[in-house]
Amino acid sequence: MTDTKRIALVTGANKGIGLEIARQLAEAGVAVVLGARDLTRGQDAANGLAETGLAAEAIEIDLNDEKTIASAAEQIAARHGRLDILVNNAGIVDAEDGPPSAATTGAARRLMETNFLGTLAVTQAMLPLLRRSSAGRIVNLSTTLGSLAINGDPTSPYYEARLIGYNASKAALNMLTVQLAAELKDTPIVVNSVAPGYVRTDLTGGNGFMSPAEGARLPVKYALLGSDAASGRFVEPQGDAPW
Ligand code: NAP
Repeated sequence: MTDTKRIALVTGANKGIGLEIARQLAEAGVAVVLGARDLTRGQDAANGLAETGLAAEAIEIDLNDEKTIASAAEQIAARHGRLDILVNNAGIVDAEDGPPSAATTGAARRLMETNFLGTLAVTQAMLPLLRRSSAGRIVNLSTTLGSLAINGDPTSPYYEARLIGYNASKAALNMLTVQLAAELKDTPIVVNSVAPGYVRTDLTGGNGFMSPAEGARLPVKYALLGSDAASGRFVEPQGDAPW
């Protein structure tokens, strides 16, 4: 089956920034597949979009369960034949995370498993479908906290945000962006890390300077980049972010 619309998969799209990314992509005319580890929650979110006239479908995809990742890739292949946009949005924080002296290794392992290894697994599974696109776009939801430079800068407002598990998992995600962009430099696939800003979601306990819709804007912009798009960048709302 050949779709004329661009096809996007957004992981963790049942709520928060991911749901708003899905909504804004659908508003831009993209056929959106909402990834959710709980299919019921994903379907509820897709129904919510449908109620506002936006077509979207849900798919089960749990970053910690490679069977669901492989199955999601098979289903997207069967339904759409390719993927044009992958937004690696799903991510977690962990209550046992903290500074290097105090975080539990269990928390660090869970964060690495989901935010880095899970995202790597999804990316690998979707890459064959992205290679079938004339202009594949991969957006990795990173954070300023994943910047080695900012973590080491005493003048940065984020200097005291010592979450070794979360920050290291997002630094590793940034490495995926850099290496994959280099590996794919002779292809039409563009890969970037996007820090959305400080957004009021469950992940931040409702704290933040931006609504989820505002936080979705930059990831959506990078999902919809045109043909001369730069690859291997790390951006935040103010501009380029330091690695
Ligand atoms: P959120 O509201 O907590 O949403 C996180 C989403 O990820 C949910 O849909 C959640 O599903 C899903 N998820 C978690 N673990 C998963 C797994 N193993 N498999 C599949 N889905 C999983 O958080 P958010 O603030 O929107 O965060 C979205 C992304 O932005 C994250 O990568 C986060 O690190 C990044 N980010 C957020 C901020 C911020 O200020 N909010 C700043 C920088 C970066 P469930 O509903 O099933 O839990």
